[in-house]
Amino acid sequence: MERGCKRLNCQTCGIEIPAGGIFYIGRAEIISGSDGILPDTDESADRMIAKALHEINKGKCEQELMNEVHQEIKLILCGRCRLIFRDRILDMIKY
Ligand SMILES: [Zn+2]
Repeated sequence: MERGCKRLNCQTCGIEIPAGGIFYIGRAEIISGSDGILPDTDESADRMIAKALHEINKGKCEQELMNEVHQEIKLILCGRCRLIFRDRILDMIKY
């Protein structure tokens, strides 16, 4: 291996990925969904904006609010942890 070559480790078990070795990128993306139907409320637009501003000021930082809309999680995985990652996600599907 060349000196100064950046080493990769599995971010789950910590095992070092050998130079030229096989590794995987586990990527999960969580995106806010919509069925296109807006809740039918009697609230005025002003009231809805005021409520949204209140949510922002309640202590949720910008990043938290952004994560509620879109969040991407990426991790480097060895071959064994790739299967664990896959199985854990697939295991969430119950219905
Ligand atoms: Zn691993």
